[in-house]
Amino acid sequence: MTSLFLKRPARLITPLLALLLAFSVPAAWPQTPSNTGASLPALGDNFDLTSAAERRIGDRIATSIFRDPDYLDDPVLTDYVQGIWQPLMAAARARGELGQELDERFAWQLFLLRDRSINAFALPGGYFGVHLGLVGVVSSRDELATVLSHEMSHVTQRHIARLMTQQSKQAPWMMAAMVLGALAASKSPNAASAAIVGGQALAAQSQLNFSRDMEREADRVGFGVMVDAGFDSRGVAAMFEKLQQASRLNDNGAFPYLRSHPLNTQRIAEAQSRVQLTATNGLPPASSAAQDAAQTRAVHAMMAARARVLAAPGVDQQRIMIELARARAAVVLPSAQPLSADAAQVGALYAGALAAAQLRDFAQARSLLAALMARINANPQAGTLGDLLVTEIELMEGKVPAAGTRVDMAQLRTRAELLVYGRALLAAQRPKDVSSRLQTWVAERPKDAAAWQLLSSAYTAQGQSVRAVRADAESRFAELDYPAALDRFKAAQGLMRSSPGAADYMEGSIIDTRARQTEALIREQALQDKVDR
Ligand SMILES: [Zn+2]
Repeated sequence: MTSLFLKRPARLITPLLALLLAFSVPAAWPQTPSNTGASLPALGDNFDLTSAAERRIGDRIATSIFRDPDYLDDPVLTDYVQGIWQPLMAAARARGELGQELDERFAWQLFLLRDRSINAFALPGGYFGVHLGLVGVVSSRDELATVLSHEMSHVTQRHIARLMTQQSKQAPWMMAAMVLGALAASKSPNAASAAIVGGQALAAQSQLNFSRDMEREADRVGFGVMVDAGFDSRGVAAMFEKLQQASRLNDNGAFPYLRSHPLNTQRIAEAQSRVQLTATNGLPPASSAAQDAAQTRAVHAMMAARARVLAAPGVDQQRIMIELARARAAVVLPSAQPLSADAAQVGALYAGALAAAQLRDFAQARSLLAALMARINANPQAGTLGDLLVTEIELMEGKVPAAGTRVDMAQLRTRAELLVYGRALLAAQRPKDVSSRLQTWVAERPKDAAAWQLLSSAYTAQGQSVRAVRADAESRFAELDYPAALDRFKAAQGLMRSSPGAADYMEGSIIDTRARQTEALIREQALQDKVDR
């Protein structure tokens, strides 16, 4: 939560500036004696916001983000980002940066947000926002790991708790409202309205920016975490290079803020020396051996492309993506070397195919898909992503996807495969296969709202209305919308009363229990609201 609190500048220069600010935010409030000084200070335990209180603030914010139309649980991108995030979490635990108490108390949940600007931010309670613009612009998973580990470290080092303690004691609901206000302000699409809400955003900014020392600490801790997680430390250098470039481009009179607080040389120097140290220590330098590198690059290019398309760039941009892809498709493939297709080519074709499908030009989409698949069929990871895209585009076209009859749900392992092929199986009239697999999935992952939602559709298709309504309730519950969840649980109870054979005893008692738990949570929240005020 750094650049969030800044007035959004003109659209063209927004992305890189936002990124720059996310990484480089100066001390915006008076420094306390404990965090001045040249050496890294003991940022220490100088805070009294408990982790439980911080989590409550975070939950309030999360409740709103779940309802934000820009919140996007895209299963394919979510899997990709989780594939970076989970190793970072594991490394933070192993290094002792993430202790058991915070690990259990906080959510450690990422929100993908449909926003073209380049940003990632930490929120109270272990929630994080990641703009699709960031995923779309980084050149490697190592660069993305650089940003995510930095943001994670703001939370593990309790920087947010310190910020909130440093300022006047505000009620948690007020803190949540302030963060949400700043979030909303940062999203204003044009400068004029940004100027109007800018006042509030700046007020929030002056209270909630991380200090220079906190940024340095997040750089240092984040670096250790990402290297331990197996990412290439050169990703850090590449990321800082991007930031420096942005800084130079934006260094004009329109941004006094940037002029007075350039990406400071100390942080850059520290990052560079860390990268060099890692390289000369003889540690494994890369997350992937050279032969994997081409595959990894192709996969990243596809996922960055997907992020750019899903960020809703508008028709003109979609058309440009299609044209770029057509140009790439025309390039003759070197024979016997499909993997030599460079990542940029693969990414362009992926973007073009998806953009064409969004514009409902399915003939174009199919032709670009064919060109894409010809270039990635020797790369298992990329091939899997290509297969998913084929199925998605068939679904968008209203067809019964070929995968719908071919796929065995029991064999699927990734969430993206389950959710995409699950829809394909529903289209192919195989709802029972979907519900039996998803039942075990949600039993292990009750917070997976999208899986509950798909399960609900699968039950509906089988005429199992009580189970369908209950799964719908669980989906609302997973997104912290307790009143809506209770409403659905009660609807399920009503259905059971009106048609006694609609559910068995077991199902009925689960629904009663869940309804009572949800009611208790709503009461607890109301009580907490009174205390907080
Ligand atoms: Zn930071």
